[in-house]
Amino acid sequence: MSEEDHVIVTTGLTKEYPFGETTIKAINGIDFAIKRGDYATIVGPSGSGKTTFLNLIGSIDTPTSGEIYFNGKKISEMTGNEVRDLRRTKVGFVFQAFNLLEILTASENIALPMIINGTPAREREDRVQELLEIIGMPDRGNHFPMELSGGQRQRVAIARALANKPEVILLDEPTGQLDSNTSREIMDYLIKINEEENVTLIVVTHEDTIATQAKRPLTIIDGKIYEGILESFLSIKAIEEGTL
Ligand code: ADP
Ligand code: MG
Repeated sequence: MSEEDHVIVTTGLTKEYPFGETTIKAINGIDFAIKRGDYATIVGPSGSGKTTFLNLIGSIDTPTSGEIYFNGKKISEMTGNEVRDLRRTKVGFVFQAFNLLEILTASENIALPMIINGTPAREREDRVQELLEIIGMPDRGNHFPMELSGGQRQRVAIARALANKPEVILLDEPTGQLDSNTSREIMDYLIKINEEENVTLIVVTHEDTIATQAKRPLTIIDGKIYEGILESFLSIKAIEEGTL
C-alpha cells in the first residue's frame, strides 16, 4: 500500500479502552487506505468502532498502536503545529447532532473555522457566500439555526466543514436525525461536493440506500474493516431492528 497515492493510510491501527480488569479493542488492527477524491461509506452495528475510527483518522483521537499517514506523513511524527493545521484545515467533521452555535447566524457558523484559522475578513465573506450557494441556501445566511429546518441546519454544518477547503470530510451519521427525503437531499449535496470540489468523503451511515451508492462501501465489525456491505452485518442489523 502506497502512502503517497492515498490521502489517508492506516497500518495496524488499534485503539483499546480499559474495561474492568481487561481492555476492549474498539479498533483492532485496521490496515486501510483511501485515495484522494474517493467517496466511502461505513456501515456496522452500534459499538463496532465506527466513531472511534473516524476520530482516529481525523486526528481528534490518538491510537493505542499502529500508524496513520496523512498525505504520506505519519501523524505520530508531526509537530504540534502540523497536527493542529491538519485538524483545522485538512479535515472537516460533520456529526449527527448538528453542533451549530445557536447564537450565531448560518453565515457566522460557516465562517467560524476561517476565523479560527485567521482568514482575512474579505476572503472569508466571499467563501461564506460561495458555500451558501453550494448548499442551495444563498439567501439564508442571516438566519439563526432555530429558524432553519433540520436538513438546512445539516447543510450549514456541511458548509462549515468545507470552509477551509479540507481534503477530507468525515461525517458521523450525518442524516441520523433526518427523514428519508431530507437525508436523500443531503447525500445529493455531498455527492456534488465530492465531484465538484474533489473532496474525499467518508460517511458513517445506518442507511442502506446511502451505503450502497458510495464508490466504496465498507463495513466495520468488531473493530475490523471490510470492503463492501457484509451479509453478517445485515443479519445483525435485522436483529437490532427487530425485523428478523
Ligand atoms: P460505533 O460508533 O460503531 O457505535 P464506537 O466507536 O463509539 O462505536 O465504540 C466502539 C467501542 O469502544 C464500544 O465498545 C464502545 O463502548 C467503546 N468506547 C468508545 N469510546 C469509549 C471511551 N471513551 N471509553 C471507553 N470505551 C469507549
Ligand atoms: Mg458512533
